[in-house]
Amino acid sequence: TVEKVKKPKWLRVKLPTGKKYTELRGLVNKYDLHTICTSGSCPNMGECWGEGTATFMILGNICTRSCGFCGVKTGRPETVEWAEPEKVARSIKLMSIKHAVITSVDRDDLKDGGSIIWAETVKAIRRANPKTTLETLIPDFQEDHKALDRIIEVAPEVVSHNIETVRRLTREVRIQAKYDRSLAVLKYLKDQGIKRTKSGIMLGLGETEEEVIQSMQDLADANVDIVTIGQYLQPSKKHLPVKEFITPEQFKKYEEIGKKMGFRHVESGALVRSSYKAHKHME
Ligand code: SF4
Ligand code: SF4
Repeated sequence: TVEKVKKPKWLRVKLPTGKKYTELRGLVNKYDLHTICTSGSCPNMGECWGEGTATFMILGNICTRSCGFCGVKTGRPETVEWAEPEKVARSIKLMSIKHAVITSVDRDDLKDGGSIIWAETVKAIRRANPKTTLETLIPDFQEDHKALDRIIEVAPEVVSHNIETVRRLTREVRIQAKYDRSLAVLKYLKDQGIKRTKSGIMLGLGETEEEVIQSMQDLADANVDIVTIGQYLQPSKKHLPVKEFITPEQFKKYEEIGKKMGFRHVESGALVRSSYKAHKHME
């Protein structure tokens, strides 16, 4: 058994505060709005909500995949709710969100991979919130170009797809995914004219520095614009253990390496999540 690594002090976070946060929290409770920020108890809520950014999950709460790091339930997914796009659009309006991040579970059970609901959601949000900028954190859609084209057509300001870990650990960390397939998806998005593409890696799963740098290079080669690098935290005992807590200095080092590689933005730090400071990436 792996000895549990002790959480270092830089991972202890303050409870979220601030006027805007309190106001939004009230709305979320009152209208039962679903954000990843609250369901995952994200440490950045005070900061993100204060800046008008929040992440919403579509296509249900049950995923057809079972990644070893992810807290989302696996199983038989819910039936598609065609009213969902309008619901999400209304939530964004109620919360006066300036930059909305949309993500979903993987729906390998659906012929379109869920891409129709994805596109409808973007359209509904645009109709109800013409000033809100949008970031779609999409699944790989098994590299089905027809599904990806539906996203490309509605042209979200940012399209993200996370590679999550280095090549060697991909099988262990996200069993149903493929490292090269994810890179191909990112490259396709860029080649088809998506303005800003983005990807993220979690550290602390046993990867080496060399492997992290190689993954960053692979993303740079796929012309990815924005990269996020954060610390993996175990959602429960059943999930992959944390092998290492990366130091703030090491995160800084990756940030500098990433900048030299030419990324437009590099967010690298223990508490960085894929949607952290997402509004900044619009610059
Ligand atoms: Fe929400 Fe993402 Fe910000 Fe966390 S980092 S509060 S999930 S928008
Ligand atoms: Fe979680 Fe996404 Fe993996 Fe599903 S595909 S288990 S939501 S990380």
